[in-house]
Parts: sequence; C-alpha cells; structure tokens
Amino acid sequence: MLESISSAVTLNDGTKMPGFGFGCYKASGPELALAVREAVGCGYRYVDTAAYYHNEDTVGEALRHSGLAREKLFVLSKIWPTDFDEPARALDTSLRLLGLDYLDGYLLHWPGLDSARRLRAFEQLLRQKEAGKIRVLGVSNFLEEQLSELHDVFGFWPVVNQIEVHPLFTQAGLCRFCAQCGIQVISWSPLGRGREMENALVRELAADLGRTPAQILLRWHLEKGLLPIPKSVHAERVRENAAVFDFRLTPEQVAALDGLRLPDGQGRMGPDPLAYPR
Ligand code: NDP
Repeated sequence: MLESISSAVTLNDGTKMPGFGFGCYKASGPELALAVREAVGCGYRYVDTAAYYHNEDTVGEALRHSGLAREKLFVLSKIWPTDFDEPARALDTSLRLLGLDYLDGYLLHWPGLDSARRLRAFEQLLRQKEAGKIRVLGVSNFLEEQLSELHDVFGFWPVVNQIEVHPLFTQAGLCRFCAQCGIQVISWSPLGRGREMENALVRELAADLGRTPAQILLRWHLEKGLLPIPKSVHAERVRENAAVFDFRLTPEQVAALDGLRLPDGQGRMGPDPLAYPR
C-alpha cells in the first residue's frame, strides 16, 4: 500500500511511477498553471495531460516554474488516434509544447477503430522508447481484446492501461484482467467527474470517517490497487484530494462502494472504446 502521494508503484517492466496523479483535462491558462504548481507543491509527482487537451504548453511552463528537478517529475501525455500514422511527429510536437526532451509516460489515448494503424503506431513508438524519448509506453481505453492483440503481436503486455473507473462504473472484469496480466490500471474520472460525491453512501462514509466525499472515493481506488488521477483547478481541492494517505477503508466499506455499480455499463460517463473516436 502506498505511504504517501509521492510513493511509487513498480510496473511490469521494472520501471517505477508515482502511484497517484494530477489530471489536467478541461483545464487551461493561468487557472491550470496555478493548479499544477499547487499540485507539485503538495507532493503530486505525476501530471497527466494529452495532445487532445491542448494544454501541454501551459503544463510544461508550470512544471518548469515549480522549481522541482525534472527527474523527480513523471510527465505523461497521450497520442490521439488521428495521429497514429505519424506517431513520431505527434510525440515530437508534445515534447516541444511541454518543453521536454523525453516523456515519462506516453499512451495511445484510445485504441481507435483500425487495428492495423494502432499496431503500427505502437511499433513505431517502441522505437521512440528505444531512442530514449519515452520511459513508459502504455495504452488507454483498451479492452481485453485490444490488450490481447498487442500481446499476441509484440509478446508482452503493455505496462499501463488508463481507463474510466469510479464506483458507478467499476470495470471489474477489465481491472481483474489487467491485474492478472500485470498491467497497472490508471483510473480516469476517479471522482466520476465530481458527480459521485453527491452519492448518499459516499456522503455517509465521509461523515462517519470525518473525511470528504472526494477523499472517500480516492481512497477506494487506492485500496483496490488502482492509480487515481483527480483533476481540480481549486487549490484547496488539490490539497484535499492529496490528503488520503492517513486513513484506510475496510474491506467491507470497499465492497459497499463496489455495490454502487450500475448494471449494463450505465454508469459510464465517457464514450465506448469500441465506437470512438469515429
Ligand atoms: P475527475 O473525476 O477527476 O473530476 C473532476 C471534477 O471534480 C472537476 O469538475 C472538479 O472541479 C471536481 N473536483 C475535483 N476535486 C474535487 C473536490 N475535492 N471536491 C469537489 N469537487 C472536486 O474527472 P476528470 O474527467 O477530470 O478525470 C481526471 C483526469 O483523468 C483528467 O483530468 C485527465 O487527466 C484524465 N482523463 C483521461 C481520459 C482518457 O481517455 N484517458 C478521459 C478523461 C479524463 P474543479 O476543477 O472545479 O475543482
């Protein structure tokens, strides 16, 4: 179990990454810059962005101003499927905007609908990894069949899969599959985009434990070995979300939160990876 927000997890290839991250989707400008600096100041070491978020320049500048040494940070970005034909160029654009000469993490943002293009992109990015431009090459929004296809072609499992996970949409089967294959799950929208904090059980647990609903939700991810990346542009929430390493949920409390899952994927907030992006 992680001891602090800057503690690392060890991935299936032996590399280490921080076990908790800061999300940057739908944030931009000075508001995002301040939030990133606040996050680094209170111990977040992994910052999660993507070409699709159009904020890599702001993230890069904020990280430079944070004063933290480059090697202490884990900066992750993602390539959008429309760039799968020219992945080296997409990577160089992200590096230039971030002002970095390597990325700690680089993910295929969505599998996309064309398996041949996806596999070619992954292969070309492996060469970029060998060239030292990427430390951890992983995927996002991949289902079992797409993970297995990568394994069949390349002979190893990707190190991480970043997927939508929160109590109303637990993706239990996919998380179990990833755990069996040694793939670290990173939970996106770990707070259910803020909406699950209104849930009655979450609020009840928060009141019982003297915590906030957001802290209950984030602790649920940590208890399950998932790596959450909450986003907030409010300094007090950035700090609140980080303060989840001095209490635990019992197995019964975790199971009760698991029980919030809605049937038939109704709790999903983002798109279905089998049909997106078109
Ligand atoms: P989150 O589950 O992190 O929720 C963010 C929302 O919750 C914001 O509206 C935020 O508001 C609010 N919030 C955050 N903390 C608190 C708090 N303590 N109390 C009350 N409200 C709070 O959703 P995201 O969709 O942003 O997911 C997190 C990250 O995951 C993204 O930022 C991105 O990095 C990544 N992601 C990856 C995807 C992928 O396809 N790989 C898809 C989507 C997201 P405010 O900012 O105003 O505080």
